[in-house]
Amino acid sequence: MKKFFAKLFGNNTEGSTSPFIKLHPAIDNGIKPTSNTFKGGLISCHCRKNKVNVKLTGQTAHNHACGCSKCWKPKGALFSQVAVIPRDNVEVIANAKKLIIIDETATIQRHACKDCGVHMYGRIEDTNHPFYGLDFVHTELSSEQGWSAPTFAAFVSSVIETGTDPKSMPEIRERFESLGLEAYDCLSPDLMDAIATHISKNK
Ligand SMILES: [Zn+2]
Ligand SMILES: [Zn+2]
Repeated sequence: MKKFFAKLFGNNTEGSTSPFIKLHPAIDNGIKPTSNTFKGGLISCHCRKNKVNVKLTGQTAHNHACGCSKCWKPKGALFSQVAVIPRDNVEVIANAKKLIIIDETATIQRHACKDCGVHMYGRIEDTNHPFYGLDFVHTELSSEQGWSAPTFAAFVSSVIETGTDPKSMPEIRERFESLGLEAYDCLSPDLMDAIATHISKNK
């Protein structure tokens, strides 16, 4: 239990002095602002050599922290950070042969590097899905600055399913709110409205 709390609070680990609960490095270490003139960039997997490189043309949208169990998270992070970009703007430019699909039956097919395990992009192949046409990407895999900043947290309660003590939830929610990120247990209202609109149109 002690170890568990140490991991959550960052006490005695990696020299962190932050008193706050750790959510995700890109959030804990200060959220980098969105650049309105950003043109995109390269994301790379964690392999030392023969990295899978994916070129993202243009800015991402709807960047957020996600507490679900499926999204890729960096080591020690409670949440993932994930954004969307049109699938036509996603191009694997190096070591594509290292990519595998984590679960071919999942709605979002997560294409991961088989050597380091990093998810490079998640793709929806169901043309009836509300988010068909958008790929899910983790822009922290890029060294470029200016990507769309996270603006909310989704599926916050789901971190309990992956081992977080329910007692930590108020602190997690407060931390998100103090950083200006609204904490939701589904997606944001904008995205929930988009899903409902799509469903009602297809009826
Ligand atoms: Zn890799
Ligand atoms: Zn997720």
